[in-house]
This record gives sequence, structure tokens and C-alpha cells, in this order.
Amino acid sequence: MTARIIDGKAIAAELRAGLAARVAAIAAAGERVPGLAVVLVGEDPASQVYVGSKVRQTTEIGMRSIEHRLPAETTEAELLALVARLNTDPEIDGILVQLPLPKAINADKVIEAIDPAKDVDGFHPVNVGRLATGGRALVPCTPRGAMRLVKSVGTALSGLHAVIVGRSNIVGKPMAQLLLAEDCTVTIAHSRTRDLPALCRTADILVAAVGRPALIGAAHVKPGAIVIDVGINRVPGADGRSRLVGDVDFAAVRSVAGAITPVPGGVGPMTIACLLENTLDAHAARRG
Ligand code: NAD
Repeated sequence: MTARIIDGKAIAAELRAGLAARVAAIAAAGERVPGLAVVLVGEDPASQVYVGSKVRQTTEIGMRSIEHRLPAETTEAELLALVARLNTDPEIDGILVQLPLPKAINADKVIEAIDPAKDVDGFHPVNVGRLATGGRALVPCTPRGAMRLVKSVGTALSGLHAVIVGRSNIVGKPMAQLLLAEDCTVTIAHSRTRDLPALCRTADILVAAVGRPALIGAAHVKPGAIVIDVGINRVPGADGRSRLVGDVDFAAVRSVAGAITPVPGGVGPMTIACLLENTLDAHAARRG
């Protein structure tokens, strides 16, 4: 069997086109378009690239992007004051504080200061709780995007066994909630899990969110399974330049799985598209 490749790039482009149409309809009705505030503290090069992409894609679909680039020496009190201002700004629907923050700032405190109705990252405990209790929540962008890729395969999900490798708050745990909400039987594996290959082989849906190149090989995969690779790892390439790979040994697993996401071009492009979707959802919810 050769797995069908789930084209995250195309699915994200389709999602963005749908969001652009929603924004255009809001503008055509003479209403205020959604506004996303992105806050970056410090000079972390990876964060600068992420923020640049978020800002560009926000404006590309017709939404307003408001950037706050603050120096690395910004104090926690200063950042909290900015968040408080954004919370009460009627033109702002979404607030994203790019992580990681400098060590001197308590990230949990900052996340908890964001109005849950504007928490487009879905990290505020209120949104985490609502997701867990089946309420209306802003869902973290990467698992929301990964779930859309699972659904794109078209398989009925009810009763399937999903194994998620990785238990982080931003990917593994919310992904488990989303699969549970689709009536999957869900197992979360992590660094202390025993006999990971045997457990993974029982999965109809296997999600890898670890951050270790080639952790998941052919021996981890049940024939025909849906394999979603969330991992992003930079490894040295044959030409001496670095390249991106996931947590799944794509070449080996492709011949066993039923459907598989590539890296790059799988989950990655979905994350920002779902951030835009969350912003539009937050805008709609705030308008009632
Ligand atoms: P994390 O470091 O917070 O969590 C990693 C998890 O993997 C932990 O729960 C740990 O228990 C588990 N783990 C570690 N070693 C293991 C092993 N040998 N066997 C089984 N489990 C093991 O990471 P994260 O923030 O959840 O990110 C995971 C990966 O996803 C990273 O590569 C990250 O870059 C990537 N990521 C991608 C996107 C995207 O947009 N595509 C977004 C977020 C994270």
C-alpha cells in the first residue's frame, strides 16, 4: 500500500480562501473587519519569522493586523499593561502573544491576563476548560488544523482508536480532546510510555507531536492508518544545508499507512490558517 498524501498546503489555501470571502462579506456590509493584535517581545529569530508570516497572512485575507514589537528588556508589568489595553480595545478581536517569552516574564500570567474571548491561541485556562467540557471554546491552532486534516480523509471517525504521541498543552492534550469529541477512543503516549511501537500499531489514527526526527517508523504503524505528523525538526541535509523533517520516517511509513501528512506541507500551513479562523470566530462571537 502507498499512502495517500494529505496536502496541508492546498487544504490551508482553501481554508484561507473561504475566510477571505467571509471577511469580504463583512467589509461589503460596511462593518468593521476583524483585527488581530500580535505581540512579539525580544529578537528570537524563529519568532520573528512566525510573526512575519502571521501578519502577512492576516492582511492577505483582508483582516486588520496590529503589530506590537517590544524590546527584550520589556518588563512583565509593561506587557500585562499592553494586554489590558488590547483587552478593552473594541477594534481588536484577537490577541496573540508570541511564545516563548523572555525568561523574566511569567508566560502563564500573561496568557491568563488575555480576555478569553480574544484568546485566539486557545491557551487561556477558560478555553482549555471549555474544550475539555465540550463548551464553545477557541481551540489551539495546530490541533485545530491537524483535526481538519484528519477529517479531510473522509473516514468515519466514530469508534476509531486514536493514539497521540506527545502530551503538551499546545498540541497533544487539545488534540486528544478534539478526537474524543469525534467519538474516537483516545490514548495519549509520552516519553514514559512503555512499548511505544506496539501501542502505536493499535492506532487507526496516529498523531506524532514530539519533536524527534524519525521517531515513528514503519513498525509503529497499523496498515491503512491515518498518520498526522505535527513534528517540525531541523536536520542537516545531504547538501550541507539544513532541512525540515517531521517525527515520522515519511519514506518508510508511506508504504504502510493509508494516509499521511508530509513535512513540510502538512500540519504546518494549517496552523496560521486556523489562527485566522479563530480570529474570525472571535469577531463573530463578540458581535453576538
Ligand atoms: P513539547 O516538547 O512540549 O512536547 C513533546 C512531547 O513529546 C512531551 O509530551 C513528551 O512526553 C513527548 N516525548 C518526548 N520524547 C518522547 C519519546 N521518546 N516517546 C514518546 N513521547 C515522547 O513539544 P510540542 O510543543 O508539543 O511540539 C511537538 C512537536 O510539534 C515539535 O517538533 C514542534 O516543533 C512541533 N510543532 C509544530 C507545530 C506546527 O505548526 N506544525 C506547532 C507546534 C509544535
